[in-house]
Amino acid sequence: MKKSTMILLIIIAAFAAFAQTRSLSIYYEELTAVQFAAALKASDSTCIIPMGIMEKHGPHLPLGTDLIDAREIARRAALKEYAVIFPPYFVGQIFEAKHQPGTIAYSQQLMWNMLQETCDELARNGFSKIIIVNGHGGNNNFLTYFGQAQLASRKPYAFYFFRPVSDPVLAEKIKSLRKTTADNHAGETETAMMLAHRPDLVHIEKANTQSGSDLNRLADLENAYTGIWWYARYPNHYAGDGAPASKELGELLLNGEAEQLIKMIRSVKADRMTMELQRQFHDAAEHPTQTPQ
Ligand SMILES: [Zn+2]
Repeated sequence: MKKSTMILLIIIAAFAAFAQTRSLSIYYEELTAVQFAAALKASDSTCIIPMGIMEKHGPHLPLGTDLIDAREIARRAALKEYAVIFPPYFVGQIFEAKHQPGTIAYSQQLMWNMLQETCDELARNGFSKIIIVNGHGGNNNFLTYFGQAQLASRKPYAFYFFRPVSDPVLAEKIKSLRKTTADNHAGETETAMMLAHRPDLVHIEKANTQSGSDLNRLADLENAYTGIWWYARYPNHYAGDGAPASKELGELLLNGEAEQLIKMIRSVKADRMTMELQRQFHDAAEHPTQTPQ
C-alpha cells in the first residue's frame, strides 16, 4: 500500500470514529442497544447521575428545580466532554419538606437501595466510573455517607461525587451581579439558574407572595444539631428572595458549574488510581494482621 493511501485510510478511520462519537446521544435513554457499546467506549465507561428531588421551591419555581438544573449542568458538560447521562433521578433525602405540597419523601431504606442498585446495574452494564451531580442540598450528607459506605465491600466501579470549587474570578463576577445576601433555597441563585434555561417554568410575579426569611426559632439551642433545624428556620420551605434574580446571573452560574464538571469528567476518565487503590485496600482488608505495622 502506498504511503499516501495509508494516510488517507487513517484519516477516514479517525473521521468515522469522530462522527460516531458525535452522533451518540449523551442521554442513556436515547441510546440504542447497538450504540451502547460505542457509548461505553466514548465515555471511558463514565456515567453521570444528575440527582434532584421533588420538593417545593418557594411559591414561584417548579417542584423539580434541583433535578432540572442538575441535568442542565450535566448536559452542558457532557456535550463538551462526552459522558452518558442517566435518566431523571429524584430518589433522595427530603423529609424536611413533608409538610409542603408535592414532596416525594421516600424512606431511607428505599433511597439507599435505589442508589446502590442503580450503581450495581450500571456496573453490570459496563460503567466503571459513576459521577453524581447533585442539585439538592438535602442530599449532600446522604451522598457523602453513601460514598464512604462504598468501601464496605469490593465494587467493580468507582463512585465520584461532584464537588465544584469556586473559581475566584467567577465568584467576583457573581458577587457583582447578586442583589440579595440571604440566598438559599429557591432564592436569587436558584431562580436565576432556572430563568437562564427554563424561563417558561418561573413564576417570577409570585416570588414575593411568601416570606423566605429566617425565623431562627431554635436560636437558644447551643452547640447542637437537630433534624428539625431547617423547619425551625424556614417553615415556608423558602430561604431568600427569588424576585431580583436575573438571567445573566443564572447563565454565569450554570456555565461556571459546567466548566468545573468538564474538568472533573476529564480527570475521572483519566483516573486509574482510584480502582487500583480500592483493589489494594480490599486485598489488605482481607488480611489486616498482615498489614505492616
Ligand atoms: Zn433547590
